[in-house]
Amino acid sequence: MVRSSGPLSSPPGSVFPDPSVLEGVTAPAFAHLPDPANLFARRAERFARLAQGHPLGPYLSFLAHIARAQHVAAERAPAPEPADAEAVERARAHEMPPLDRSHFTSDAAFEAIFDRLLSQARAIEKPEPAEAALAHVLAASDAERGEMIRNVLADSIPVEALAEHLYMAAALQVHFARRAAQLDAKALVPVGDGICPACGGPPVASVVVDWPSAAGARYCACALCGTWWNFVRVRCTACGSTGGIAYQEMEGGNGAIKAETCDACHSYAKVLYLSKDPDLDPVADDVASLGLDLKQKEGPYRRSTFNPFLLGY
Ligand SMILES: [Zn+2]
Ligand SMILES: [Zn+2]
Repeated sequence: MVRSSGPLSSPPGSVFPDPSVLEGVTAPAFAHLPDPANLFARRAERFARLAQGHPLGPYLSFLAHIARAQHVAAERAPAPEPADAEAVERARAHEMPPLDRSHFTSDAAFEAIFDRLLSQARAIEKPEPAEAALAHVLAASDAERGEMIRNVLADSIPVEALAEHLYMAAALQVHFARRAAQLDAKALVPVGDGICPACGGPPVASVVVDWPSAAGARYCACALCGTWWNFVRVRCTACGSTGGIAYQEMEGGNGAIKAETCDACHSYAKVLYLSKDPDLDPVADDVASLGLDLKQKEGPYRRSTFNPFLLGY
């Protein structure tokens, strides 16, 4: 907080400075890195809460267990190899994300996470297709696993193998969140509209925050590594257009989740408002608000965001 001393910065009759004067001082940070020690535990709680009385209850409950398994895997695996400092600097100089998805190589940390996640997943009560998918992943060859990794990291998961890829995506989320957490948030730079400045992936949704340090600011949330990056409001997160933007929500909704539609690229992305619900989680609430996606299916807008737990919509 900056104390005002000059007459220009205080509204008449007030000892407090005009908030507009402070805007430059309290500019929201560009990026917030994930905290893997809390991210998945919080998400598990959110999924479990959303599951109660929800038409998708069994699936949300299953995902609560997956998020819990992600938390356990994150807790016990060895630390990932830190990104090479020179490569990070080179990426920054070229406005590229420091974590290069296209050259992913597995390491001991990822192997440990994948193995632990799968062993946790065996104990989860699940529907038959999810059970069969898990058995398939457990029996997969290194080459098949490599292909699944590439599919997830390219955000292009084959529709006929969604269930198998769910486990791989969950493991990669943990691994990339831990890698992103090792970066320096202040060193991240914008790399393009709708692209995570840490790992180069698309957002799962965007979030309008109510933090004292950034009240009313919007952040895009990465679907893979969990990094949040600042993105101005009323602007398409896919193409950057500021014209032709509109908002839709479910009838009877409390305004906590809206679809931001763009007439320039005919896409939509969800916006979550923390002031309406402080417990919102971009990944969990995106799945639970599937009704909004189903509503969009009738219209001209395609979904621009990515969520490995909500595919085929
Ligand atoms: Zn990311
Ligand atoms: Zn657009």
